[in-house]
Amino acid sequence: MRILLSTVVLLFMLPKVALQCLSAMYRQKEIHIYSSEYLGLGMKPIQHRTIMVSNCALSDFDSWLHYLKGNLDFIGPERLAMNESSLLTRAQRRRFDVAPGLVSPYEIKRASGIAHKTEPDIALEFVDGVSASRRFQLTSIWAIQTLVGSARPKTGTLPTFDLFGVTLNNVSMSEAIKRVMNSINQPDPHRKTSKFAFVNADCGNHFFNDFSYKQILNGFDQVYPDGIGVKMAARMQGCNLKENVNGTDMFPLLCEQLQAQGKSLYLYGASGAVLAKLLDKLRISYPSLDIAGHSDGYSYADSPEELLSRINNSQADLLMVALGAPRQERWIEDNCSKLNVAAVIGVGGLFDFYSGEVSRAPEWLRELSMEWVWRLLQQPKDKLHRYLIGNPLFLARSIRQSLANRTSDSLARVAT
Ligand code: UDP
Repeated sequence: MRILLSTVVLLFMLPKVALQCLSAMYRQKEIHIYSSEYLGLGMKPIQHRTIMVSNCALSDFDSWLHYLKGNLDFIGPERLAMNESSLLTRAQRRRFDVAPGLVSPYEIKRASGIAHKTEPDIALEFVDGVSASRRFQLTSIWAIQTLVGSARPKTGTLPTFDLFGVTLNNVSMSEAIKRVMNSINQPDPHRKTSKFAFVNADCGNHFFNDFSYKQILNGFDQVYPDGIGVKMAARMQGCNLKENVNGTDMFPLLCEQLQAQGKSLYLYGASGAVLAKLLDKLRISYPSLDIAGHSDGYSYADSPEELLSRINNSQADLLMVALGAPRQERWIEDNCSKLNVAAVIGVGGLFDFYSGEVSRAPEWLRELSMEWVWRLLQQPKDKLHRYLIGNPLFLARSIRQSLANRTSDSLARVAT
């Protein structure tokens, strides 16, 4: 397979490079060979040559030659130079147990908007779970990303975009976590409690015709785009989302920060059984995380004041509300002025996922941005309408919004 693939690619690439060189010689342009070195399997140094014409690189045939020779695999960690490898920890050097790749798992995750860890950590995860089937999965995902044009990172992103009248923030996961932590560490003197929300296609369908829900979300400090539907809607408006910022991926990263900075957390929502499982898991994964308190999402329906005093008496820094959208955003809006916490986040079904009550989609499905398919299979009765009717409806509404925007832009241009 390796020989066949690299031979086919090189047969296309080499004549093109030869022609480009001949044309450069004819036009008396400067041609030179740029040589660099990276570390291969077992930290063996590998020379990499690039032909440059007037300081522009021609097609990278040397990578394919190295792939043919076995110095590179198709999928593998990113190539690192000697000086870059000196920054790695001892554990992270295990990345050299496999050959670097033409395509890296980090690139694939970044294209899906889920590269929430650093490249060395994602490389290490790959090395720890490497198998023929994992390589096949990643190769197929890369092929699909290339076909639909999402494999290359897009630049020129806007900081916000409008979804049916709600402003969403286009930030990376680490930026979003920084904002939540800043709101705890340096609370805004004008706002007692900072409010954060996630919006997916289902939320979009909810607020499409619901002005009060839109108003509530627009009053939040930050609203983050969650899922492939919102990503597609953003792209239709010329906004390339930096990452898929969802509560389930944010939760463990946020817990790490809360634990490291000695900040406390209150958990509100889901059933008592789910909360108990969640607490057990948290105590194992984050033994020094200060869980100031917890309340399930059903027991205080008739005693809202008691719930508020429990939360306020806990003196928690951050409150997570897991009642599902839009119930949780309405609860946050109604109770915000009575809360003493520095920040509050609506997190939907997060507690069900993290506790293990509802299983999360396998990694390859998340890399394909198809987590919703798993949720549909897990809870077909509850989610059938949401996904099978809701997703096409959301897409149709997004297309209509982007067409309407284009029409009004053209009319504005004609008018000026
Ligand atoms: N829930 C709750 N109280 C209620 C209704 C719902 O605590 O009165 C919880 C429910 O147990 C579940 C979560 O809210 O844990 C809703 O999850 P869902 O997956 O529907 O939310 P989404 O992520 O889709 O917004």
